[in-house]
Amino acid sequence: MGEVPCGFESHRPHMKKQNSLKIVPLGGLGEVGRNMMLLDYQGKILIIDMGFRLPEEDMPGIDYIVPNINCLKGKQKSILGLVFTHGHYDHIGAIPYLIGKIWQPNLEIFASPLTRGIILKRQEEFSSQPKLEIEEVKNGSKIKLGPFRIEFFKQNHNIPDNLGLFIETPVGNILHTSDFKFDSNPVNDLPTDFEKFKALSKRKILFLLSDSTGAEEEGHSLSEKEILENLEEIFKRSTGRIIAATFASLINRIQQIITLSEKYHRKVVIEGYSMKTNTELAKVLGYIKSKKGTLIKAKEISNYPDSRITILCTGAQGEGSAVLMRIANKEHPFIRLRRGDSVILSSSVIPGNERTVQILKDGILRQKAKVFHYKMMDIHAGGHAQQEELKEMIKIMRPKFFLPIHGQYSMLVSHAELARESGIPEKNIVVAENGQVINLNQKRIFVEKKTVPSNYVMVDGLGIGDVGEVVLRDRHMLARDGMFVIVAVVDKQTGQIKGSPDIISRGFVYLRESKELLAQTRKKVVEIVNRAAGSGGAVNWSYIKDEIRNKIGQFLYTKTQRRPIILPVVIEV
Ligand SMILES: [Zn+2]
Repeated sequence: MGEVPCGFESHRPHMKKQNSLKIVPLGGLGEVGRNMMLLDYQGKILIIDMGFRLPEEDMPGIDYIVPNINCLKGKQKSILGLVFTHGHYDHIGAIPYLIGKIWQPNLEIFASPLTRGIILKRQEEFSSQPKLEIEEVKNGSKIKLGPFRIEFFKQNHNIPDNLGLFIETPVGNILHTSDFKFDSNPVNDLPTDFEKFKALSKRKILFLLSDSTGAEEEGHSLSEKEILENLEEIFKRSTGRIIAATFASLINRIQQIITLSEKYHRKVVIEGYSMKTNTELAKVLGYIKSKKGTLIKAKEISNYPDSRITILCTGAQGEGSAVLMRIANKEHPFIRLRRGDSVILSSSVIPGNERTVQILKDGILRQKAKVFHYKMMDIHAGGHAQQEELKEMIKIMRPKFFLPIHGQYSMLVSHAELARESGIPEKNIVVAENGQVINLNQKRIFVEKKTVPSNYVMVDGLGIGDVGEVVLRDRHMLARDGMFVIVAVVDKQTGQIKGSPDIISRGFVYLRESKELLAQTRKKVVEIVNRAAGSGGAVNWSYIKDEIRNKIGQFLYTKTQRRPIILPVVIEV
């Protein structure tokens, strides 16, 4: 399978253009996060979302992973525009890292007011970014971009202002659900509008792309109202301070905590940069409501009794730099835990974070505070439809073709199974992964043989994509067995080593306790150099460095069963 750029039609200008739509997922299929997808009709490209994901555990030093957009290189002119479904970072987070690469004046971008606000606020943190003009769209807005007519419709999730996409294309109507759940009792939002869904389905849906994140969970997701009731139990019982930790982007959860605090006469302190900026933004745009005087500054905590205080902060995942971790580690300037405090961890634990969350919980309990987490009470509902809702969505939309999107591979497979159970024939369902090209026309759907590049692009500090497999492998080796630097000074005339080679080691052995090993190593280095270069004259130094690396590597391995990175440095004088 060869890799080709997307927008393939342009490669065969003489062939009759096929009447098919290509759907190219660049992220989010086979993983949670990094959602980005292209719709390509005869070389005209619509982009849906541009998210990032967090690194896997075995990626030391990596901040984020963003989609690979190499297939868009040189195709700026073919990009019709970008539409964003909602303001979660797994749907918008890669914008500052990627937008510059496809930037052109008058690039058309569409998002709901809250999503737009979050994108623009974040752009401020990055210098030298192009100035984005984002047009606001809402439930019912219609836009036309080339061959695509897009109609936005409201979807419930755990962030307000989430929009699904109904797209009329020359091959037929397609429906992209965005992340969603059905919610009859949402927070600051209208309940799911099933009438609207039915009206959309009457217009005949050829192709449904639906959120798979909850596809392995049985039953129905919790309503935001049920979560509120569970949270209220904690508010009823707590006599000391309540410290509630969640994600800064869970705007609904933030609202619930504020609402309950007001009901139980508590002032609310918001701690953490992202939590503060998101809350302020959502307040300005009217998505978070609070009474005058409810929100106070951290410094003012001591003006109120404990039973009148709620602290809302980040860090429910045990993130090292987040506020809750600093509180638990007694590093926060104003807030110390004490007996009577109730700490609420209101977000499900992301796979891989279980251990840090455990350490966090232990740390809080040692300081005699109580801990409430999602396993004990349903104080977090994922924002994603579960099996019953997913089946219902398929039954309402009755699409001819189906593609599960957004989720680990096992989630996509589960979702495909649900689609079969709901009556979609097997041959009309595609389980695809990032980089595959899905070819759709009125009659059939299939995955093309050719793929586009979709491998990880890693962000580390200011570097985007410069850290690749090789650098990561080195980081692993350094982390595992450390490094060993050998500095040999060689006389240019004689080719003999001058003095004794210097050895610097980090993370391999403690030098002071390894004198014998070091003495033997030095002796070996002298032998290697003198044998290879002993006669003086033209010397192949890179050969000698390789010799040192290999021979000393073997020697250290036989002595220690460890394989540090060996860096030979040869200085001619
Ligand atoms: Zn989401």
